[in-house]
Amino acid sequence: MTFHEFSFNPRLLDGLDAMGFSKPTPIQEQAIPVILAKKDLIACAQTGTGKTAAYVLPILNNIVSSEKRHLNTLVLAPTRELAQQIDQQVEGFSYFLGVSSIPIYGGGDGATWDQQKRAMEGGVDIIIATPGRLIAQIAMGTIKFDHLEHLVLDEADRMLDMGFYEDIIRIIKELPAKRQTLLFSATMPPKIRALANRILNNPTEINIAISKPAEGILQQAYLVYNEQKEKLIDQLLKDTKYNSVLIFASTKESVKKLDRNLHRLGLKVKAIHSDLEQVEREHVLREFKNKQLSILIGTDVLSRGIDVEGIDLVINYDVPPDPEDYIHRIGRTARAASTGTAITFINDLDQRKFYRIESLIGKEVTKLPLPDGLGEAPSYHPEVRRDKPAHKQSAGKRSPWRGNRRPKQRPK
Ligand code: AMP
Repeated sequence: MTFHEFSFNPRLLDGLDAMGFSKPTPIQEQAIPVILAKKDLIACAQTGTGKTAAYVLPILNNIVSSEKRHLNTLVLAPTRELAQQIDQQVEGFSYFLGVSSIPIYGGGDGATWDQQKRAMEGGVDIIIATPGRLIAQIAMGTIKFDHLEHLVLDEADRMLDMGFYEDIIRIIKELPAKRQTLLFSATMPPKIRALANRILNNPTEINIAISKPAEGILQQAYLVYNEQKEKLIDQLLKDTKYNSVLIFASTKESVKKLDRNLHRLGLKVKAIHSDLEQVEREHVLREFKNKQLSILIGTDVLSRGIDVEGIDLVINYDVPPDPEDYIHRIGRTARAASTGTAITFINDLDQRKFYRIESLIGKEVTKLPLPDGLGEAPSYHPEVRRDKPAHKQSAGKRSPWRGNRRPKQRPK
């Protein structure tokens, strides 16, 4: 499925294209039609699933065709960091739409407070706020909620854990009763159910269950430039203590190249790719299962199907495009409560992809130093969007746009 199937406004599709989004994630596939149909929603989905875009996109689409603009949408989030991240996504997607947004959170200086106040007085379409700070702004009388059409509670379970229940209820009392309410939460404990019963109206329920990697898997990663990958894998496998190794690469070409290179080292290695006949593939797989072969290389086709006991190392020669593929790939080791290691090579262009994986699995993967003789590794700056190597781009630059595709001027 593509985003074109949602009949979005063409300018929103331009924003999606500029952000580099082509295919909706499962939560987006399920939530977007519900939100476009103006129904209430309760969604169980965690960070990393694409939940932000799942509500931001249909809301932006609704806003463009709405008579009620300032203030149209309120998003409540537990922390300043999340509010900033949501605001960044809103800004990126709405670039061609002329929809405005402002994040409101505490901890800033006076200038930020005045800026927030001025933006609200000037009329803003979307506010993304932490509950405490919003209450302070409400008390100043600067926010008018009469036009509000959408309320979103993002990471609702965390907001309740942080003691925001009363604040949320106080804020909701200020809002029009006729509105669309969307609640997103990573978990669904009884207190979330109780809140949902109180503030949602006949909601549609969506549950995106994410399988987590088994506890027994030791996850590690190397930050590398592409040119360093070959040497690194040679070193890892040359004096290997591993008996059964599965290597994933993203393309058939890199699978074949790796196969040739590792052969040269005298390793018992074979590859599976789409150029092989089915019987040949089955034969190679049998050899690997029977431990006649110690290393098997393949693409993601291998990650779902194969069920081989005793794989003790999985290497991701590159970062899989879809975070769920990472879980499937590394799940080939440490099966049935045994232990195993999963090592991922992250080149400078794949750092954002890997960060998405880390958010999905809810932990940071240890980055190991490169072995001696391989040169200097790139540093980890996943917040930087790159379409060229890290050493050619200044770190810390934050933009939702892909390199030079950023338009020069916001269209009128
Ligand atoms: P979230 O779960 O909303 O925190 O999103 C996690 C990350 O996935 C963010 O960096 C998004 O920019 C990215 N993302 C969300 N949806 C998509 C998509 N359909 N295609 C590519 N990246 C996405």
